[in-house]
Amino acid sequence: MDLDALYQDIILDHYKHPRNYGPIASEEVLMDEENPLCGDHIRLTAAVKDGVVQSVRFDGKGCAISMASSSMMTESVIDKPIEEARGVIRSFLASMRGDHPMDPEQAGDLIALEGVKKYPLRIKCATLGWHAIETALQKIAPHQ
Ligand code: ZN
Repeated sequence: MDLDALYQDIILDHYKHPRNYGPIASEEVLMDEENPLCGDHIRLTAAVKDGVVQSVRFDGKGCAISMASSSMMTESVIDKPIEEARGVIRSFLASMRGDHPMDPEQAGDLIALEGVKKYPLRIKCATLGWHAIETALQKIAPHQ
C-alpha cells in the first residue's frame, strides 16, 4: 500500500465529508479565523460541560488541507477532558512546527497531515482550525 495515496484518501474523505461541519448561528461564533495566504476562512463554536469538550462545530471555506485538518481536529478534541484536549492541540501544533514527529499509535487520521510539514506555505492551512479551537477553549475556560 502506497502510504502517500492512503494519506491523500484520508484527507480527501475529511474534505468531502467534513465531520462536525456547521451550521453555526452568528451569535454562536467563538472564533473567526482566516489564512489570507491561501484564502481559507473558518468560523468555529464549541461547548464545554463539566470540564469535558462536548461539541465543536465549524463552517467556512478553504482548501482541502484546511478543511480536512479542521474536521480531524473536531474528532480529536470532542469528548475529551479540556486539559487533555489542550494537550492534543499543543502536541499537534508542535509537530506541525517540526518540534517532534507524530506518534502513529496516537495520531489516528492526523498522521495523514504529517506530510504537510514539507510544504511550509501549507502549514498555516493545516493549523488554522487548531489555532481557532485553542483560542475558543481559552475563551470558554481560561487556562490558569
Ligand atoms: Zn489552505
